[in-house]
Amino acid sequence: MAFKPANNIQDLQYFGEFGGVNPSISDSSTYTFLSAKTMFDTFEGNADGCYLYSRHSSPSNLYLGEALAAMEGTETANVTASGMGAITPVIMQLCGAGDHVVSSRTIYGGTYAFLKNFTPRFNIETSFVDITKLDVVEAAITPNTKVLYCESVSNPLLEVADIEGLAKLAKKHNLKLIVDNTFSPLSISPIQLGADIVIHSLTKFINGSSDTVGGVVCGTQEFINDLRNVNNGACMLLGSTMDSLRAASVLKNLRTLHIRMQQHSLNATYLAEKFEKLGLKTVYPGLASHPSHSLFKSMMNEKYGFGGMLTIDVGSIDKANALMELMQEKNLGYLAVSLGFYKTLFSAPGSSTSSEIPEDEQKEMGLSDGLIRFSIGLDADIDRTYNTMRECMISLSILKA
Ligand SMILES: *Cc1c(COP(=O)(O)O)cnc(C)c1O
Repeated sequence: MAFKPANNIQDLQYFGEFGGVNPSISDSSTYTFLSAKTMFDTFEGNADGCYLYSRHSSPSNLYLGEALAAMEGTETANVTASGMGAITPVIMQLCGAGDHVVSSRTIYGGTYAFLKNFTPRFNIETSFVDITKLDVVEAAITPNTKVLYCESVSNPLLEVADIEGLAKLAKKHNLKLIVDNTFSPLSISPIQLGADIVIHSLTKFINGSSDTVGGVVCGTQEFINDLRNVNNGACMLLGSTMDSLRAASVLKNLRTLHIRMQQHSLNATYLAEKFEKLGLKTVYPGLASHPSHSLFKSMMNEKYGFGGMLTIDVGSIDKANALMELMQEKNLGYLAVSLGFYKTLFSAPGSSTSSEIPEDEQKEMGLSDGLIRFSIGLDADIDRTYNTMRECMISLSILKA
């Protein structure tokens, strides 16, 4: 693919007000106007370049938003206080009472809970489907459907969405295709494949230092303006605004994302291949055994690899817990939710991040008790990590010596 997301980030230049190499941080909630008329125009949305109030927009948030828009190839973007603070207003902006959503059934637990338990209070219903089957997706579309929702690489099962195929369905039925690209920044560019809106939890790989939550919505100028509209914009009115100081720090971390993603992918590929050779049930989009390996390959910006996420199934929750505790003891990583940190993070999604999903539904989608989700870290010596992990598995009889 000709699209170069990291180049687009690098090409953006914003200087500080004294020529600083980083843009100045806007430390204000409100902004003065030289004339009352300009203030009125800004309220009406007609004064480009003027700031009004930082829940609406602020210079620091705009710098970060523009960098992320450049990464995804959208006209613009709006940063938010968390990933959920991006997802929920987008859905509320696009759907009203009586509307319908078709969503992948394997999505982030919080998104699932929002669509399953929360939006029905506003008479917005969701059909959860196997997103890898385009015929099943199309069959779920009704005359009231407004939104097709998926993750490019799903949490936690690492299913891969056929974004081009889904985009065709969205065009045909006049829906908006929303893609949560949190698991595959830089690797996959959903807009280039036909998606309408891309969302990230910045909390994960993009910020990469597990020191904050954050989110972004990347889309057209028209849609982002709608979200920020003072009269009926869901971002403006629900108020999940990122703080300016934090926007400045996320922007600085974003600049190393391309290097980090390459290392995450390299390390995850190394471990996935070794684990599979040991006979462990391993899921990683970079393995030829992954059902969507060639689909991922056809969509990816090759340089950034297949990402840092992999899962193994060790058979039971007791074994999974024992292994995670032992790996933590050996300083191989942390028993923690979330992802994209320099250290490896592991958790058993069935009893943690996906516990919002009822047990019978977990079974149906293939989310088993013994599943461990890894976010592979930036380890300099991944072979040493591998060998220590293998010793842990042998000592717990998950592997034979
Ligand atoms: C973490 C996550 C979210 C939610 O983001 P927060 O920043 O925790 O609100 C949404 N989608 C995916 C795929 C995630 O991993």
